Amino acid sequence: MSALSSVLVIGASAAGLSTADALRRQGFRGKLTLVGAEPHLPYDRPPLSKQVLAGTWEPDRTRLRSETALSALDAEFLLGDPAVALDVTDRVVHTASGRALRADALVIATGAEPRRLPGGDDLAGVHVLRTLDDALTLRASLTPSRRVVVVGEGVLGAEVCATARTLGATVTMVGPQPAPLASQLGPLVSGLLADLHVRHGVELALGHAVDGLVGEEGRVTGVRLDDGRVLPADVVVVAVGATPATAWLRDSGLAIDDGVVCDSRCRAAEGVYAVGDVARWRHPALDTPLRLENRTNATEQAQVVAANLLGEDRGYAPVPYYWTDQFDTKIQVFGLPSATDEATVVDGDPADRRFVVRCTRAGTVTGVIGWRMPKQTRLRRAEVADALSAAALRSV
Ligand SMILES: Cc1cc2nc3c(=O)[nH]c(=O)nc-3n(C[C@H](O)[C@H](O)[C@H](O)COP(=O)(O)OP(=O)(O)OC[C@H]3O[C@@H](n4cnc5c(N)ncnc54)[C@H](O)[C@@H]3O)c2cc1C
Repeated sequence: MSALSSVLVIGASAAGLSTADALRRQGFRGKLTLVGAEPHLPYDRPPLSKQVLAGTWEPDRTRLRSETALSALDAEFLLGDPAVALDVTDRVVHTASGRALRADALVIATGAEPRRLPGGDDLAGVHVLRTLDDALTLRASLTPSRRVVVVGEGVLGAEVCATARTLGATVTMVGPQPAPLASQLGPLVSGLLADLHVRHGVELALGHAVDGLVGEEGRVTGVRLDDGRVLPADVVVVAVGATPATAWLRDSGLAIDDGVVCDSRCRAAEGVYAVGDVARWRHPALDTPLRLENRTNATEQAQVVAANLLGEDRGYAPVPYYWTDQFDTKIQVFGLPSATDEATVVDGDPADRRFVVRCTRAGTVTGVIGWRMPKQTRLRRAEVADALSAAALRSV
């Protein structure tokens, strides 16, 4: 792989662009091509549910690189032309417009697609939020008089509730968990999050699954819960998770199992790598397959994929990290804490709404969660890194 003369990246967003960037920074001078399904130049997704949806940022501000930086990359962007098939043996990618693109190495960076609710696609007023176009369409319908029901009490659902409420809409959050992000953050932090939303006027209809959507004359009018209640709605946002964008790889022969299955080097086959939300690789320290859907992973994994493409042999062993902004609160999460872990407040005080929690399982640190204490939270990242190193030593 050291005599690499061409690399084709499929997916022109955070992970794909970071890979291209890292390849150039690490000395790759060959032909670099990025294929993207969307017509837009690479843009960032975290602002979509926050600043773009709130209307405080115009779309241009989400661009990941300026025109100058993109031309300095010396890469060809083939946009608005999704890949539809992959021939792994010859390393050829076929696109919707009929292109057949061959390269010495391929990087799959096609991200994830939002899950939908049955029947939702047939009704006006039902939205998902993944792309810039989704965000702009939803933004146009979030006027103060609207009754908005957000289906989903995970990170994205909670962020959309906060932004829609800030815009003055009547907002209800729906989902089976007892509190927003309960399965990720545990009862202490998710309980405070529920309280934060209620204090800002979000109605919580939690602890119930959604049974279906109700509509009249092709437009959504409500959300039916499993207890028979129907919550009236003018706008419904479906935020029930995402699935890796692998449909185009169906006949490729690559192993697909909740993502592109990769080894600890992020390699799916000889000369074929995966990066970002779509990649399910074996974390060398945890010795388990893992797929992360967060912004930091897209960049960090790209560094390792680029290095391995250029002949190194690096395992990818990150400390998982994500953040979320809801109302005035930034929550940061290092590691992989779960709801049943023991949670100990190690900095600040939940009563002041500024604190850091350490999560442990059988005495081992699994994660650190910070609430409006960015510096102190970052300092405790080392505790998670140490626990991962210890796990790596045990697995040798
Ligand atoms: C609304 C929103 C808010 C978020 N907020 C946060 C946050 O606050 N903090 C955080 O840590 N993370 C956040 N994330 C997650 C973060 O944005 C993702 O983890 C990150 O974008 C992953 O990058 P990626 O390049 O792997 O995938 P994506 O960003 O999904 O990019 C994949 C690209 O591939 C393209 N593509 C798909 N199929 C094909 C095909 N067949 N051919 C060619 N191209 C294709 C897609 O159109 C897309 O442009 C958020 C995500 C969303 C959607």
